[in-house]
Amino acid sequence: MATVEIDRLVKRYGQTTVVHGIDLSIQDGEFVVLVGPSGCGKSTTLRMIAGLEEISGGEIRIDGRVVNDLQPRDRNIAMVFQNYAIYPHMSVADNIAFGLYRSKLSKSEKRQRVEQAAETLGLSQLLDRRPSALSGGQRQRVAIGRAMVRDPAAFLFDEPLSNLDAQLRTQMRIEIKRLHHRLGTTSVFVTHDQVEAMTMADRIVVMRDGRILQVGTPLELYENP
Ligand code: ADP
Ligand code: ADP
Repeated sequence: MATVEIDRLVKRYGQTTVVHGIDLSIQDGEFVVLVGPSGCGKSTTLRMIAGLEEISGGEIRIDGRVVNDLQPRDRNIAMVFQNYAIYPHMSVADNIAFGLYRSKLSKSEKRQRVEQAAETLGLSQLLDRRPSALSGGQRQRVAIGRAMVRDPAAFLFDEPLSNLDAQLRTQMRIEIKRLHHRLGTTSVFVTHDQVEAMTMADRIVVMRDGRILQVGTPLELYENP
């Protein structure tokens, strides 16, 4: 578990500023949703937290430690992407284990982590399958499994449900929330979908044009839209 603190975070691409000095404090175990229209800077913000994008100004702290100059692998966080990033030629087990690529755990520890993640996600019977033999929801769970085996202090979700059909999207919202209740891992979830934000968030952060417009619980924002 971890706190994530963001101070005056800025991102520029050349002359264009796409994140304009945002401040945000995320508590241990909190499920925060960044919501706003396409292009408002949600994904860039998330990728800066992950360390996949350099920051142009400000500070990011994870559990009180400044991570501005740390590589992604040294931040102890894991990202779940929209397009699953699953390898078709590898089994479910190997896809999940890929989250531990280059980790120093022993083979048996790795196997144990993979089996534990698979059990939590209901994938135990599918470990030998190829992704092509899985449903969309099962593939998304594999992607989450790959993040889970790292036992990260925080999960970062970048529109993970956007490619799923409506029914599956609803089901995966519930599954991700259930997982969060079980693990209590601090989560930052990016979406352009207001219903997703309302139904999943402990706290919603509304972004517009690289700035934070509003922060509140779903109830607070529902009553003061
Ligand atoms: P969102 O996730 O809210 O859809 P993004 O964070 O992806 O928004 O993008 C924010 C803005 O930054 C957009 O205007 C986008 O075009 C711009 N942007 C993103 N990546 C780059 C890049 N590599 N170079 C230049 N501009 C970029
Ligand atoms: P290495 O950089 O030594 O290969 P990893 O095995 O941790 O380290 O990372 C494998 C791949 O996953 C790399 O391409 C890395 O950029 C990416 N990666 C590492 N950590 C994260 C993270 N928290 N979120 C998203 N991608 C990550």
